[in-house]
Amino acid sequence: MSGPRPVRAPRGTRISARGWQQEAALRMLQNNLDPEVAEHPDKLVVYGGTGKAARDWGSFDAMVRTLETLADDETMLVQSGRPVGVMQTHEWAPRVLLANSNLVGDWANWEEFRRLDALGLTMYGQMTAGSWIYIGTQGILQGTYETFAAVAAKLTREGRTSDGTLAGTVTLTAGLGGMGGAQPLAVTMNGGVALCVECDPSRIDRRIEHGYLDVRADSLDDALRLVEEARAARRPLSVGLLGNAAEVLPRLLAADAPIDIVTDQTSAHDPLAYLPVGVDFADMATYAAEKPAEFTARAQESMARHVEAMVGFLDAGAEVFDYGNSIRGEARTGGYARAFDFPGFVPAYIRPLFCEGKGPFRWAALSGDPKDIAATDRALLELFPENESLARWLKLAGERVHFQGLPARICWLGYGERDKAGERFNEMVASGELSAPIVLGRDHLDCGSVASPYRETEAMKDGSDAIADWPLLNAMVNVASGASWVSIHHGGGVGMGRSLHAGQVTVADGTPLAGEKLRRVLTNDPGMGVIRHVDAGYERAEEVAAERGVRVPMRET
Ligand code: NAD
Repeated sequence: MSGPRPVRAPRGTRISARGWQQEAALRMLQNNLDPEVAEHPDKLVVYGGTGKAARDWGSFDAMVRTLETLADDETMLVQSGRPVGVMQTHEWAPRVLLANSNLVGDWANWEEFRRLDALGLTMYGQMTAGSWIYIGTQGILQGTYETFAAVAAKLTREGRTSDGTLAGTVTLTAGLGGMGGAQPLAVTMNGGVALCVECDPSRIDRRIEHGYLDVRADSLDDALRLVEEARAARRPLSVGLLGNAAEVLPRLLAADAPIDIVTDQTSAHDPLAYLPVGVDFADMATYAAEKPAEFTARAQESMARHVEAMVGFLDAGAEVFDYGNSIRGEARTGGYARAFDFPGFVPAYIRPLFCEGKGPFRWAALSGDPKDIAATDRALLELFPENESLARWLKLAGERVHFQGLPARICWLGYGERDKAGERFNEMVASGELSAPIVLGRDHLDCGSVASPYRETEAMKDGSDAIADWPLLNAMVNVASGASWVSIHHGGGVGMGRSLHAGQVTVADGTPLAGEKLRRVLTNDPGMGVIRHVDAGYERAEEVAAERGVRVPMRET
């Protein structure tokens, strides 16, 4: 019986598999379980509560063994984290095919999943845990950065800011937890001022320690003075303020505070984790455990006040959005009728990017050498000199992001861009500018690879939110295009029964064959985002398809 042990991907150019395609899958499986990367490596859990890279340690060992001996015309099949077969295929076929956490519709709920999980028959793969392309917290920071960049672009289009950045604006938000803690840095990276309300003092200290938050204010007045000074000087600054958002937001509204953008990342999705007004933070956990029903009712009532203030800012002309934490739904349950007056972040900012085939593209250096990522950063700046938001991100990421596990980078690129990056990286591997091959993949949260009606496909223009043919077509087109490994998952991000999504990773090993594969995969994969949004009736996607030559039969005469 094999058991937990520290796992770390090998570095350098000596490989134990029969080729780089197999070696890449092996290293990325190991990298997902690196203690620097995974939340609970002993339990094979990578991120997102229970998202795993392998079903059990026996399966992990069998996958390692199989990848080390797999031939260039063979494919390993993985069923929810367990290798179940090796088939003879061909050199253009993926070396690994994975299906994780999938259940038949009527059975697709947590109760049935947990029953099967307890029997050892399945595994929760989340999005990039079970598909071996998780790169640590850089992904959260970049996604949040990209969202605020999209807010800045919208405000500039509307003439509310001038230069495509958040300079001279104040963003008010709450929650400095695991994900929410990325907000202050994402706002300052976009040039803005952030005022972040948090009820747990240790979270404020932690964010300052990690360089994600600049300063802590002593009082509401102190916070207002700090943000007003920074805003007037168009100087980026993030300020943490200890308090309950359901009290602080109404006070700021009443004080006519100069707030331009409002959102929230308290843990509103779980009313037992949202601090109700009138409860001390120190008593929160005991109270929630002892009187859950009473606690829930009070939390929802407080969320109603919190959201009422957000709508107050909306009425006063601020840009307001829900950041995927269900606070609108909880506030409505708490009795506030106008809770849905402001939109969710995907329909508001991310969908226009999806229409261009944009999404969280990422890559990792199999050498383990940070210099390789620095070289890819420079190559991207040369490839896309006109993309200012990308340049800003790459510069700041180079300075501020600490790598976890194999050095990696994430940035949002779209249709007509990802293929250029992939082919360039492949040339750099061939020429020796990079010291070893690179893997290129993405989150499953992408333009054409996910059906998730509470998040990525909320409020689609044609009402097709729950249509799940798209992620399946996405996986098939990536298999047909030459990806190195392809995955189809269920339930990532939002839970069982609520999403289907697919992923791909392709290896740039410097060979002409890899170059051909990358050109096709990195064109067709984001191409799925363009056609999915053309089909749903989005004009921007139609323009992109027409300008960049994406064929859509129903638009051809
Ligand atoms: P977390 O539990 O780590 O942090 C939540 C924070 O909110 C905690 O620090 C807590 O002290 C604070 N908080 C709770 N009640 C408060 C109150 N009344 N006033 C002020 N602070 C309060 O959670 P997280 O991982 O940071 O995620 C935050 C939320 O955002 C979750 O609901 C998550 O699902 C959502 N989220 C959505 C997306 C997305 O859709 N893109 C991405 C990230 C997170």
